[in-house]
Amino acid sequence: MNAPALFIDGEARAAAATFPVLDPATQELVDHAPECGREQLDAAVAAAARAQADWAADEPARQAALHVASERLDAAAAELGRLLTAEQGKPLRNAESEVRGSAAWLRACADLTLPDELLDGGAGAQVTLRYRPHGVVAAITPWNFPLLLTCWKLGPALLAGNTVVAKPSPYTPLATLRMGELLADAFPAGVLNVVSGGDELGAALVAHPLVRKVSFTGSVGGGRKVAAAAAVDLKRVTLELGGNDAAIVLEDADPAKIAEAVFWAAFDNCGQVCAAIKRLYVPRRLAGTLTDALVARAEEVVVGPGTQPGVELGPIATRPQFERVAGLVADALRDGAVAVAGGAPFAGPGNFFAPTLLTAAPEDSRIVAEEQFGPVLPILVYDDLDDALARANGTRFGLCGSVWGEDLDAARRVADQLDCGSAYVNSHGSVSPTLPFGGVKDSGIGVENGHWGLHEYADLRVSHVACG
Ligand code: NAD
Repeated sequence: MNAPALFIDGEARAAAATFPVLDPATQELVDHAPECGREQLDAAVAAAARAQADWAADEPARQAALHVASERLDAAAAELGRLLTAEQGKPLRNAESEVRGSAAWLRACADLTLPDELLDGGAGAQVTLRYRPHGVVAAITPWNFPLLLTCWKLGPALLAGNTVVAKPSPYTPLATLRMGELLADAFPAGVLNVVSGGDELGAALVAHPLVRKVSFTGSVGGGRKVAAAAAVDLKRVTLELGGNDAAIVLEDADPAKIAEAVFWAAFDNCGQVCAAIKRLYVPRRLAGTLTDALVARAEEVVVGPGTQPGVELGPIATRPQFERVAGLVADALRDGAVAVAGGAPFAGPGNFFAPTLLTAAPEDSRIVAEEQFGPVLPILVYDDLDDALARANGTRFGLCGSVWGEDLDAARRVADQLDCGSAYVNSHGSVSPTLPFGGVKDSGIGVENGHWGLHEYADLRVSHVACG
């Protein structure tokens, strides 16, 4: 395989400078990624702008191209999976399923359409509603699911007739750059471009005058900056931001039955999931039994390098995030929380942190109030359901939430009171290419997936024809 390169106007291009990408399991170099300079960013956006009109003109060709892209990803699942594990840390099995999930997303998207609609314009007028692509879309993504979250944007943006400049996280650019190359023959030159660099490259892309829509997944702070920058020339934005999801266990829940699902909803991908359970509210009567069941699971989970067979949780993906998680746990312990499982990093150079369960964390401690985005779950006791609901909703985040109990109607009534974009009963955070996903409050603007997500990539155009 060649050195990682930018993918611009249908070809791989080297950059004048590079930056290191580290393996979070060892802190050793995986590879050097190209640092996209100003001229190359301009070239990528210009190529996307040039390609857009022809691309928008042929819907069946777009659908067919997305099917080809999906096949290419499936065929490269092993190669891309290895790259993902090397730069992000997740177990190989999970990395490959991320690639296959990305392929499945493109496939599902390829079969969506944006048909014209006839509207009632009154007598003497024929009115048709049409969907018009924005033009060049900037797709900016974080490091937790580098390929999947990029494909959540590529599929609908391209299907709607836009062209794309994608910018992955500087911590995990390699798999996305390689994906660009692998898809070279799926799309005409310029339709998909991938550039890599730091936050300032993302900012330059957002500010670029030829970009007309920004689809951003990342932190709330990053989302605020994107929204402010996009306001300058009124670019459209979709913002998928952080979460501090609460799960409320009800009195009639069976701890033995739900412990496994609750555990993985909090710890999958080392807790680095926007829609992970980040606060667990448990009635006092069940707190002991559910905590014991979760501790038992945490103690048997296999943590190690993602390349090792049998590993269930890899390292935290980036050094700054590892340090942030360690700091949040240390603060919580100082504030009176008790680590009933884990509570500290593992020795060694990698970003390994023991799966951690905290009890007695004060409601105003940072581990409860902020998004931890790591393998740590505070278990919070409640005596009164209204109080649990008030605490669950007492946050500026609003991504997802869940309620766990045997009486599904009762659980749904509680879930309906959660102030968030997706509320689940007896599960948490599942996503599908057919279902809209997005946050309220600080967790975002707009949704991704399904035809709701597709509509985020087109403006409405109302066409009036006076007749008779
Ligand atoms: P981040 O905001 O630091 O960075 C995300 C991406 O934005 C990176 O590519 C980064 O280089 C770029 N960026 C940063 N500043 C920018 C700016 N001013 N203009 C343009 N681009 C900029 O986030 P992160 O630390 O990479 O990711 C973790 C966060 O992402 C967590 O808060 C997590 O909850 C969130 N997330 C949300 C979803 C969702 O769908 N809601 C999904 C996954 C992750």
